[in-house]
Amino acid sequence: MENKRDLKAIVAQMTLEEKAGLCSGLDTWHTKGIERLGIPPVMLTDGPHGLRKQRGSADHLGLFDSVPATCFPSAAGVASSWNRELIERMGQALGRECQAENIAVLLGPGANIKRSPLCGRNFEYFSEDPYLSSEMAAHHIMGVQSEGVGTSLKHFAANNQEHRRMTSDSIVDERTLREIYLASFEGAVKKAQPWTVMCSYNKVNGEYASENERLLTDILKEEWGHEGIVVSDWGAVNDRVNGLAAGLELEMPSSYGEGDRAIIAAVTDGRLPEEKLDAAVERLLSVIFKAADARKTDASFDPEAHHALAREVARESMVLLKNEDGLLPLARKGKIAVIGEMAKKPRYQGSGSSQINPTRLEDISEELAKSAGPSAEVGYAQGYHLDSDEMDADLIREAAELAARSDVAVLFAGLPRRYESEGFDRQHLRMPDNQTALIEAVAAAQPRLVVVLSNGAPVEMPWIGRAKAVLEAYLGGQALGGAIADLLFGDANPSGKLAETFPVQLSDNPSYLFFPGEGDKVEYREGLFVGYRYYDKKRLKPLFPFGYGLSYTTFEYSDIAVDRSEITDEDVLHVTVKVRNTGSRAGQEVVQLYVRDCASSVIRPEKELKGFEKVALAPGEEKEVAFRLDKRSFAYYDEDVRDWVVETGEFELIIGKSSQEMVLSKTVAVASTRVSRTVYHRNSTISDLMKTEKGAAFVEQLVGMLPFGANLAEEHKAMLMAFMEQMPLRGLLSFSGGKFTEEKLSQVLIHLNS
Ligand code: BGC
Repeated sequence: MENKRDLKAIVAQMTLEEKAGLCSGLDTWHTKGIERLGIPPVMLTDGPHGLRKQRGSADHLGLFDSVPATCFPSAAGVASSWNRELIERMGQALGRECQAENIAVLLGPGANIKRSPLCGRNFEYFSEDPYLSSEMAAHHIMGVQSEGVGTSLKHFAANNQEHRRMTSDSIVDERTLREIYLASFEGAVKKAQPWTVMCSYNKVNGEYASENERLLTDILKEEWGHEGIVVSDWGAVNDRVNGLAAGLELEMPSSYGEGDRAIIAAVTDGRLPEEKLDAAVERLLSVIFKAADARKTDASFDPEAHHALAREVARESMVLLKNEDGLLPLARKGKIAVIGEMAKKPRYQGSGSSQINPTRLEDISEELAKSAGPSAEVGYAQGYHLDSDEMDADLIREAAELAARSDVAVLFAGLPRRYESEGFDRQHLRMPDNQTALIEAVAAAQPRLVVVLSNGAPVEMPWIGRAKAVLEAYLGGQALGGAIADLLFGDANPSGKLAETFPVQLSDNPSYLFFPGEGDKVEYREGLFVGYRYYDKKRLKPLFPFGYGLSYTTFEYSDIAVDRSEITDEDVLHVTVKVRNTGSRAGQEVVQLYVRDCASSVIRPEKELKGFEKVALAPGEEKEVAFRLDKRSFAYYDEDVRDWVVETGEFELIIGKSSQEMVLSKTVAVASTRVSRTVYHRNSTISDLMKTEKGAAFVEQLVGMLPFGANLAEEHKAMLMAFMEQMPLRGLLSFSGGKFTEEKLSQVLIHLNS
């Protein structure tokens, strides 16, 4: 919505105190209003997977009660749907609930990369892959904002752990920052223009994100063209004046006048140009009025329809990890043992600021019994105490006995709330001992064992060989019970694919050696090799790879085609592939397109995800799926050039069922249009010289010039050349028997650089 008001004129009417005041919150959740100028206060609140509008005392940690709102699955699950259209619909529903509660900005989504599976907040983040993460974030934003409600893309940037989250310093090299951590935000900012971006608590390369001009102004506003405002994470302001100067418009929550006073003093004594403050206020007004103009005073929402949508999202968020002997879907007959306290007290959302008060909550065991119908007999055994890791031998025995008497056992396990949350990281990837012991005992009594997991991030599964089927339900939101029933009984076909790698053990994860850092120093030494980029390159087999997930039907791929086999890096390339449902059930497949640079002068991952589409197919049906690739699909970030660069050469386009199961590929030639001029100097090596025509011609003559070079046999000549390749030009002064002088070297350089 366009702002018709003359914002500059409004700013001109404001006093210095009013302007400074607008740059911080009134309280925990509101901005300040200025009645005489018609500027309303607006409310921002969490987010992301449901609305947390607090009723009484306000806190930002999810401690106090909030109004009932639909609890959708958290981002870890939502990302596993790989379904842009679905997440957009979820966003619209969130937007409607915000309108009904007069919320201007819903805080979320979170686009931080899952660097380590230990991060306590991974449930709230989408993926280890920046492309998937930014696409999911963009469509979440587009959905919410289509209802006239803003979003806050968070936490910008490199906030990948909870340990010391308010003071830690993420030390990340520029290329990794650009290609992995910033890219996850970049795509979403450019595609969806979130009204606000929330800066994170931590420092990035030595400077607090909240006062990092490079991040907030140079990159976010100028390079990416963000039109909205930056809001601080709650309490992330270190120095308010530096923050404002760096591009942080809004401090939240209220600092009870401290921040405002600091701004006023800095303007008064000339440390902060008033134009900087005016520009920040203008941006703030633009967002405030956008919200005010989009306000629907008669808005309401249908909780039943939103519950049904939550069930649909949950169905697509869950990932079938294992299904030996086609144990699933279950038949609606015989005796079904439902085991595990989580079946009655489900873990359906994460803890911390995103924790909401659901409009209702399904009991999984009841939903299973309802769905199983009259011909099946559903029994229940608790199996373990959710609030303790201690084994209870009686509960385990009772569960094993029930399983033995039944035709199949469905066991609910995962991570209790106390294991993962905003505010702290996990120490290990294990499930509670009492749950692992239960799985072993039940598997011994009943080989037809299905394990359903509820957790916000990967767990180690030493018991995997003992379960025939495993469904990863993530944190499935308030309708998880029905969604699980739909999938287990086959009313819906699993279609989720992992948006993150599940390692066999924690120590396989690339960040393991450096997580969570030393004191406040967190060095991202694994660099680009985050998630599958690492497992691929190391040829290390994970428990379950990125992009993996099973279905009750089968899909076959054929006819990968490109519209051109040779392009420049300025062209757009269209890729198509056909997918057929070759099984007997309707299903959805996530078609993944990875790009591999066949030969590169820089260190690159084996391949990177650059496209995906989810297609629904009836049995026997075939569809063509189309992808569009552009420069960024082939580029890496060149730190010297400070830009994205494509190297001329061949690239392989790979269609995968997961990051580890490649099914088709096609090679295209991409020519770089970048005009780069090589400048040679005395320390350019012979191999550097060989990269240009002129240089190569010089090297050609060189061997003959060397004292021991003349009349060499071909084999020796080759060996000499291999040895010489590493030598800088100045080395000729020592190895040419005096033929090569400083004067000659200067002449050669003039010739090579002319
Ligand atoms: C969290 C944010 C949240 C804010 C407000 C902070 O502690 O990091 O994600 O939006 O609180 O509740």
